Amino acid sequence: MAPNNGNQPFALEDPDGVPSARTGLPVVVIGAGPVGLAAAAHLLERDLEPLVLEAGPRVGANIAQWRHVRLFSPWCLTLDPVSVRLLDLTGWTGPNPDALPTGGDLLERYLEPLAALPALARRIRLNTRVVAVARQDLDKVRSPGRDQLPFLVRIRDHQGELRDLRARAVIDASGTWTRPNPLGAAGLPALGEPDASARIVYGLPDVLGRDRGRYTGRRTVVVGAGHSAATSLLAVSELQQQAPGTQVVWAVRSATPRPLVGKGNAGADELPARGQLATDLAALVENGRIQLVSGFRITQVELAGNRITLAGDQFLGDDLTQAQRLVVEADQVIAATGFRPDHAIATELRLALEPALESAATLGPLIDPNVHTCGTVPAHGIAELAHPEPGYVIVGMKSYGRAPTFLLATGYQQVRSVVAALVGDHAGAVHRDQGPPAAAICATNRALLITAQRRHRRQPAASAPDRPTSLVAGAAVGTAADWSRATCCP
Ligand SMILES: Cc1cc2nc3c(=O)[nH]c(=O)nc-3n(C[C@H](O)[C@H](O)[C@H](O)COP(=O)(O)OP(=O)(O)OC[C@H]3O[C@@H](n4cnc5c(N)ncnc54)[C@H](O)[C@@H]3O)c2cc1C
Repeated sequence: MAPNNGNQPFALEDPDGVPSARTGLPVVVIGAGPVGLAAAAHLLERDLEPLVLEAGPRVGANIAQWRHVRLFSPWCLTLDPVSVRLLDLTGWTGPNPDALPTGGDLLERYLEPLAALPALARRIRLNTRVVAVARQDLDKVRSPGRDQLPFLVRIRDHQGELRDLRARAVIDASGTWTRPNPLGAAGLPALGEPDASARIVYGLPDVLGRDRGRYTGRRTVVVGAGHSAATSLLAVSELQQQAPGTQVVWAVRSATPRPLVGKGNAGADELPARGQLATDLAALVENGRIQLVSGFRITQVELAGNRITLAGDQFLGDDLTQAQRLVVEADQVIAATGFRPDHAIATELRLALEPALESAATLGPLIDPNVHTCGTVPAHGIAELAHPEPGYVIVGMKSYGRAPTFLLATGYQQVRSVVAALVGDHAGAVHRDQGPPAAAICATNRALLITAQRRHRRQPAASAPDRPTSLVAGAAVGTAADWSRATCCP
């Protein structure tokens, strides 16, 4: 077998080694979401050449789909410190670190200005979908010389043509937004679900804005027990206040929908805004504005005229032998059932996936949603993200596979470690923080934003640099020590 970077997790590329066919090629970053763009900024900072391939017509294309949603993380937890420094050099005035952005704010105030910086803009290809990644000239079975060969990245370009590019390494930050989980309790689409798609919206519709007409005066079932479900439930109940006749049913698989209703206490959550969702939801269930159907395992979906029915078994407690047949009828369904990763682009690569979550195998136990919430996932890096294929790594939302606990602060820490590994900075790559990264990144960003705001009041902006080489030597860049200091929110 070829050298396995599971055993040598930092040897994505050895800068002191003999130059190989990979040397001099760009590092391809798949996806221009917040984590992909952060990866590009970190690569530039380390003097490597990024090439960001984005399937959508704009950066942050997935976030654009949920731009109306307010994040539960404040700005200080949603910015990558290296990217902030890059922006700061051009006179960007950052947001209030304690305010909660919407998805739209994240795009307009952060991702779009970042992507517009000349150093990044000319390294981003929009409307360019990666359809496959392989090792040049070797299929998955062949080992000799594998780690010396470039990657072959097959793309469908903006004109619809298939083309092959070569890459030194591939950082996959393509997210999971376009692959929602189905309604079926078994993880498969429920019988009839695909045929009923006209009455099902997967994800987070803009109930109070763009999609209002679809829900006004109608009965909607929201399926799912996470924070996305809570967001949609609160939105439909607000609409209910304005438009009588609007009804909302909340269907969940478990008999006791925890942690959302179980907590019902903003103070009990490490992110107060997220805890507030649970509190508000619990109150609406309590006063009957939202009808809760718990223990509901959906097996069948049917369209009947203008209505949709969800059918399945309802378990009233933990005893799985005690079930009754249940049918719930509505006009619309919002499926807030989470997301799963699509590893189809990497079928010719050697991946080691955790069997339940489909994350990297070593990362799985650290992010298991049965054990961890977002805030309790420990900091991690290349050691936990590595696959047996040297040079291919999955970061960001997709790195968590099916686990719903991903936070941007974690993604930024991942790319810091991955890029350090890529340049052979073993100390930077191996560093492990004690505890979650949220507090440290918040402290770093807060300091950067406040310093920048003070400075910009005194002096005009400089012109944009091509490459932020000075950043590595700069003061407040989120060094290993910064990331491990827990001094700030939440
Ligand atoms: C509604 C919602 C609220 C959230 N709130 C928070 C919060 O408050 N705090 C927090 O920390 N996190 C939050 N998250 C979680 C997470 O931080 C976001 O999902 C974030 O967008 C993940 O960033 P990413 O860069 O990994 O992926 P994405 O933002 O999903 O970006 C992936 C990019 O890759 C592109 N792409 C996909 N496939 C391909 C391909 N084959 N070729 C090329 N390009 C491709 C997509 O078009 C997209 O632009 C939230 C998520 C959701 C859905």
